[in-house]
Amino acid sequence: MSLFYEYSGNLHMHTPYSDGEAYHAEIAQAALSAGLDFIIVTDHNVLVQGVEGYYSSGEGTERRHLLLLSGEEIHDRTRQPQVNHLLVYGAERELAACAADPQTLINAVNAADGLCFLAHPHDTPLERVQEPAIAWEDWQVRGFSGLEIWNYMSSLKQVINEGSLLQGIRAIFRPEDVISAPNPLTLAKWDELLSMGRRVVGIGNSDAHGTVFQLGFLKHTVFPYDFLFSCVNTHILSAQPFKGEWQHDKALIYKALRHGHAYIGYDLLGSTRQFRFSANGQYGSAIMGDSLKVGGGVTLQALAGERSHIKIIRHGKVVAEAENRENLTYTAQQGGAYRVEVWRTFKGKPRAWILSNPIYLEDTTYQAEGI
Ligand SMILES: [Zn+2]
Ligand SMILES: [Zn+2]
Repeated sequence: MSLFYEYSGNLHMHTPYSDGEAYHAEIAQAALSAGLDFIIVTDHNVLVQGVEGYYSSGEGTERRHLLLLSGEEIHDRTRQPQVNHLLVYGAERELAACAADPQTLINAVNAADGLCFLAHPHDTPLERVQEPAIAWEDWQVRGFSGLEIWNYMSSLKQVINEGSLLQGIRAIFRPEDVISAPNPLTLAKWDELLSMGRRVVGIGNSDAHGTVFQLGFLKHTVFPYDFLFSCVNTHILSAQPFKGEWQHDKALIYKALRHGHAYIGYDLLGSTRQFRFSANGQYGSAIMGDSLKVGGGVTLQALAGERSHIKIIRHGKVVAEAENRENLTYTAQQGGAYRVEVWRTFKGKPRAWILSNPIYLEDTTYQAEGI
């Protein structure tokens, strides 16, 4: 397998330009302390200009750099209740005026050569504080880049809503005790779209706001930015390294996201760097996000980096799995979208640790949409 450079980032967060608490420079410091390489700030319905570039911390050998980019989370503010939040990256222009119709908005993003992801698509309500579910409702849309498979704040809402008041309080103080995996409805939707030949890139994010959370008499800054940046992140793979020139490196990030050269890592359980998923067959090799002809069979290889429970999944069905193993190989004879989940035990419970993007194996029965 050829060499790829790996960078970890978080692609969904808010500042006081919408409903977050900290400004860009402060968020960049939080991301630096969490060890991230890049972040994309996505305020609601505003593309903040003039903040992109490298931010640094530390001195001498401790000096670290982080690339901050500006995206946007767009929705129709006149629609009640609120639904259809769309994360937009790389469009480089304000598109909030197109929000009234989700397909019009997606078309505008594509016309601007941007990327867009349906945010927290199966969000649940938080009834105790009258916070509604902000799910994706208009599933007939086409042309979006992918789904936000795992949104950590949305996971928090889900576990608080499903559990007792006591479990809810525990979730606010120690979310990692109760959050285990993305919403299964979102994973099922991803598999459904993939089985139809749709090319859908998965990302995982914090949705950090740094907000004070109030549940009855309890008031608490639930998730400071730096904590959230050490939880669910999106890792990208690039054939070329970052140069430290922000426009150049920004283009590499958006290229990797566009192609699905990326995976979701729940880094709180242990660093997910070094995870790899690749395919090799008579027609060549592929990494996550790529297509390859099946031919006489393709060997899929998942390298978790640590002993864990590895599953290879095709259209919602586990086709191969191994427990307590660092790697798993499987020979695929059939076309389809194959993705990997890696699970590990944390605080006595199995948790989703890594979710890869799919490799699209094509034959006469399965063809993936073009990019
Ligand atoms: Zn949102
Ligand atoms: Zn958000």
